[in-house]
Amino acid sequence: MARGQLSAVELTRSCLDRIDTFDSRLHSFITVDEEGAMAAAAAADTKRDLGDEGKLLGIPLSIKDLICTEAMATTCGSKMLANFIAPYDAAVVENIRAAGGIMVGKTTMDEFAMGSSSETCCFGAPANPYNTDFVPGGSSGGSAVSVAAAEALGSLGSDTGGSIRQPAALCGVVGMKPTYGRVSRYGLVAFGSSLDQIGPITRDVTDCALMLAVVAGYDRRDSTSVNRPVEDYPAALRKGMDTLRIGVPREFFQEGIDLEVEGVVRGGIDMLSDAGATVVEVTLPHIKYGVAAYYLIASAEASSNLARYDGVAYGFRAPADELLAMYKDTRTQGFGEEVKRRILIGTYALSSGYYDAYYKKASQIRTLIIEDFKAAFCDCDVLVSPVSPTPAWRIGAKTDDPLAMYLSDIFTLSTNLAGLPGISVPGGFSGDGLPIGIQLQAPHFHESVLLRAAYNLELQTELANHLPSL
Ligand code: GLN
Repeated sequence: MARGQLSAVELTRSCLDRIDTFDSRLHSFITVDEEGAMAAAAAADTKRDLGDEGKLLGIPLSIKDLICTEAMATTCGSKMLANFIAPYDAAVVENIRAAGGIMVGKTTMDEFAMGSSSETCCFGAPANPYNTDFVPGGSSGGSAVSVAAAEALGSLGSDTGGSIRQPAALCGVVGMKPTYGRVSRYGLVAFGSSLDQIGPITRDVTDCALMLAVVAGYDRRDSTSVNRPVEDYPAALRKGMDTLRIGVPREFFQEGIDLEVEGVVRGGIDMLSDAGATVVEVTLPHIKYGVAAYYLIASAEASSNLARYDGVAYGFRAPADELLAMYKDTRTQGFGEEVKRRILIGTYALSSGYYDAYYKKASQIRTLIIEDFKAAFCDCDVLVSPVSPTPAWRIGAKTDDPLAMYLSDIFTLSTNLAGLPGISVPGGFSGDGLPIGIQLQAPHFHESVLLRAAYNLELQTELANHLPSL
């Protein structure tokens, strides 16, 4: 576009055409705003003619449907918010617009971001673009699918326990969860407020660095936003690997990991070592308690955050004769099974008499996990591990077994407990042709180092911009 060989209108049209062709099978979108996107594309072309060089000028993007937008509904994949139009744009949406980005639509997700397969979405689940009988992962499944299928050039997802990195891994694209506090959560519908973070899903690491540079930064409207300068992420990529130490956490290569996944991740470690990095083994002794601690803390926070959906201020309201019945019927009919399960777990964990045994204990474990990472990062700059213990599974295979679903987050959720940045980079494919990702993690606010390692890995795997044969 900068060379005048392609217009934003043409590019946006091609994304909308792909949505038309593929989305009845992939179902990555809940809302598509064709008219708004084409108008924004025409405006972007005019701006470029006038000399505007916005970082994302004329680039069609998709947005997970729990990030508030004034122009489109924000459903959170739930009947509760099926008709909800936010009265304001999220901070990240303001940033995307200011940089000239075009929003083509809002993507399919697990209801209120609770899940690892996107199957709890009450408007129908998305499918994996590499094999539509398989899940795309979740909860930002629609975002990852839209990018993998080039229905959008990038997307914003949210990650509370792995929801950006895991679907990115299962769909063969790049997904990054920034440091807690790096990207404003203003306008992100809350799930687990101490864990949630917005981040990019893209077709390669360079695009990821570019999108992060646009959405990162201080915002006084989010009290946990951190006032630190935003680095020049795209510029950080091209530094080599030879000064970097790569840590391999022993605990991440034990039982439960699929052999093909282990093979791909070990292959990635060799590639980073060939590129000049030093490889050291590290240990995270308390990581084994991560799943238990996460599902107590995330559910506790969810039970509190979701108390607001009572039929009064916004969203679905069940008709009833009196107030208590209205609350009860609204929440009974408006929430799906998984959301109710989380509210029950969280309410139980916070209730008097159980608080010390569950919520407090989980918080103490969280501190131990934070200390584990701190110690590990004394010996290395970046940790390498699997993203998901297995490649994508068949649609329906885990829907009746919540624990099996929860265990699929075993390698990602400790990043959120510790507030660290993490990225998933395509690493290879299973024998069945399903993508496998490699996870990198770094200390707080070391996004530049993380992206540099990811970029060097991507140079070796040569999997950037791979397109599924749809
Ligand atoms: N799968 C995890 C959960 O269900 C993480 C979800 C997320 O990151 N939003 O809680």
